[in-house]
Amino acid sequence: MKTFERYGSAVVISGPSGVGKSTLVGNVRKILPDLSFSVSCTTRSPRAGEVDGREYYFLTPEEFEEKVRRGEFLEYAGVFSRRYGTLKSEVLSRVEAGEQVLLDIDVQGAKQIRAAAETSPELARSVHFILIAPPSLEILESRLRGRGSESEEQLALRLGTARSELANYRLYDYVVVNDDLEQATADLAAVLRSFRLLTGTLRQEIFR
Ligand code: ADP
Ligand code: 5GP
Repeated sequence: MKTFERYGSAVVISGPSGVGKSTLVGNVRKILPDLSFSVSCTTRSPRAGEVDGREYYFLTPEEFEEKVRRGEFLEYAGVFSRRYGTLKSEVLSRVEAGEQVLLDIDVQGAKQIRAAAETSPELARSVHFILIAPPSLEILESRLRGRGSESEEQLALRLGTARSELANYRLYDYVVVNDDLEQATADLAAVLRSFRLLTGTLRQEIFR
């Protein structure tokens, strides 16, 4: 084993729908090409351009329930009247293998992972939480409308949830404000890099 061999990390990224999480993560992957990404399961339908197994595993409600029953999820939640969940197989073995894995999940999922970390020292050592915030709720609305992917009903649901999601900011270690995209990308990359350097990630004591 090399002296500075490290464990990886699981990084939870949350933020209201339309704040720019997918855009930021896409940008950061160009700066940190070795980033790994947890592909979630969802019962919502794919948007134009979304590919099964790339953005999400698109499941029927029955398929989703079967995975719940088998205990395959690290966390799962009902979000915007659909179900979303993170598979253990997308995260745990990769963190153990030294990879940094991003989880784009909502506040309910972040709370479940925080709770799990309280009883698991391995998880506590390797999980971090970042909130992406909009410069204002008005700008959030214009981004979500500008994306043009949601019905009026989904828009109202997503904007109605935004304020309470942001009120949970104390759950998170860092808040990155996505105002200027370039600045927010640089901030997110800096935070992710800093997690890789934490002493807690070292696999063994050094220079003994
Ligand atoms: P999320 O994944 O959080 O739901 P998206 O990444 O889909 O959000 O972004 C929502 C919309 O806002 C997209 O149309 C995207 O191009 C746009 N957007 C993202 N970041 C910015 C930014 N910093 N400035 C202006 N528009 C942005
Ligand atoms: P969208 O439908 O816009 O892709 O995502 C809607 C919301 O679901 C976002 O807030 C996103 O973070 C959240 N989400 C995506 N995957 C998961 C997941 O696996 N678990 C949880 N709890 N939330 C998720």
